[in-house]
Amino acid sequence: MAVGRVIAVANQKGGVAKTTTVANLAAALSQMGARVLMVDMDPQGSLTLWSGRNPDTVEKSLYDSLVKGLDSRQIRLSTPLGADLLPASVDLSLAEMELVGMVARERRLGAVLAPVRDEYDFVLVDCQPSLGLLTINALAAADELLIPVACEFLSTRAIQVLLRMVRKVQLRLNSKLAVTGILPTLYDRRVRHARDELDALVEQFGAETQVLADCAVPRSIRFAEAAAAGKSILAFAPLHPGAEAYRRLARFVAGDALVDKAPAAAANEFSLLDIEEPRIDVLVRKDAPVRSRR
Ligand code: ADP
Ligand code: MG
Repeated sequence: MAVGRVIAVANQKGGVAKTTTVANLAAALSQMGARVLMVDMDPQGSLTLWSGRNPDTVEKSLYDSLVKGLDSRQIRLSTPLGADLLPASVDLSLAEMELVGMVARERRLGAVLAPVRDEYDFVLVDCQPSLGLLTINALAAADELLIPVACEFLSTRAIQVLLRMVRKVQLRLNSKLAVTGILPTLYDRRVRHARDELDALVEQFGAETQVLADCAVPRSIRFAEAAAAGKSILAFAPLHPGAEAYRRLARFVAGDALVDKAPAAAANEFSLLDIEEPRIDVLVRKDAPVRSRR
């Protein structure tokens, strides 16, 4: 039985492509034959909206599971992205406040995922743009953290703060949390500034955690168009370099985990054989203070 690897996608800055990464990575992993669950931990509900549900009207949501203990199988939905979803609703913004007084308030998401986790290969958690209790719950429940960073308006300070938070979570709540890497997004290779930002990321954080430079997601209007159509970039524009970036990321994240799923992958609408092998810069120091997965 699979024990879903829980990957939190977090960065307390908004607009860095967290939700875009969860939706497209989920779609790419699903195309490779993986079973994927998406978790919308952002009260804004962008992922829920993308999945074709309205966070204003969705009947039961993570709020009910986190705060009222409703079994997550009762809120789970299927989506056109090929992955299942635990949806957000506007009430989720109340959860943060209501959780404060509850026992084991940082571990509620772990309890919510427990009954469904084994049904999936991957559980991808979309975090809100803050380091509040919902994000702490995601980090406490996660095996791994993926950090999307926008090359366009790079904030190294935000990454430093996030990594400091990771160390605290590792010490106090979840010693197994590992940083999968920093994913550069909104990358425009034609713009010198963006290339400088990418170099700056590697220089500043490369020793501590991997910068997934070979998966850098290009900046393109296609992403917003795909989201508006309720589709992944893989379904909307399969040959677009942005789709390829997320397929690469999926192959990196999955590693050898999906080798036995090869027949399912072969049945996909287009061949994964067309895709170059990812060449990931492995820049991990053995004594690094924040552990990386590889
Ligand atoms: P976050 O969840 O971090 O707030 P989103 O995933 O919602 O960020 O992305 C913010 C905006 O940027 C959205 O309008 C989205 O469509 C757009 N976007 C995301 N990735 C890209 C990209 N690679 N190129 C251009 N626009 C993008
Ligand atoms: Mg978002």
